[in-house]
Amino acid sequence: MIGASVKRALRRLRPLPPASDSRGGRIVAVIECILNQNARDAGAAMAPAMSWEVVSLCHAHGVGMVQLPCPEIACLGVARTRAPGCSIRAALDTEAGHLRCAELGVQAADRLEAYLRAGCQVLAVLGGNPQSPGCAVHFDGQGLAPAAGIFMGELHAELQRRGLDIPLRGMRDGDRVLLAEDLQWLTRLFADQGATLP
Ligand code: SF4
Repeated sequence: MIGASVKRALRRLRPLPPASDSRGGRIVAVIECILNQNARDAGAAMAPAMSWEVVSLCHAHGVGMVQLPCPEIACLGVARTRAPGCSIRAALDTEAGHLRCAELGVQAADRLEAYLRAGCQVLAVLGGNPQSPGCAVHFDGQGLAPAAGIFMGELHAELQRRGLDIPLRGMRDGDRVLLAEDLQWLTRLFADQGATLP
């Protein structure tokens, strides 16, 4: 577990990178399909390769992207193999599905914490479309809502357990209007956090 004061102290103590090193020290964690639309279920890909609007915005602001594993593939395989009539959501929303997503959440949190210890800022976790069984991001007054994706719920809980207060936001590339809102949010976040043009 690493608190805010410890993070600040670690940042002060870390050695400066060599002058030849160009890293910006700012990252976001993104769901697998933002960087690879081939991860999506049949019929759900919005582009041949990646969600370019999100990728290009991060690039323009000098923000690196850490790819999170696709929970549907981890639980059900690329083909989303499951019993006839069983939805992907129902297949993930099982004890085994939650356990697997919790494991993925621990691994992802370990990686993000390692970046924090190395002095990077983790600006956000970028999730998926509102209907995504694994990666939707929905909040209510108490935190993540039950409609959120199973993996997002487990990852968020793990980050909270570690005291890592990292904003979560879905990148809703299935709808142009919603995606524009999400890109505006991300642009404001980058500006607020001092992420600059490379
Ligand atoms: S489960 Fe998440 S990472 Fe996998 S395809 Fe759906 S939204 Fe993308």
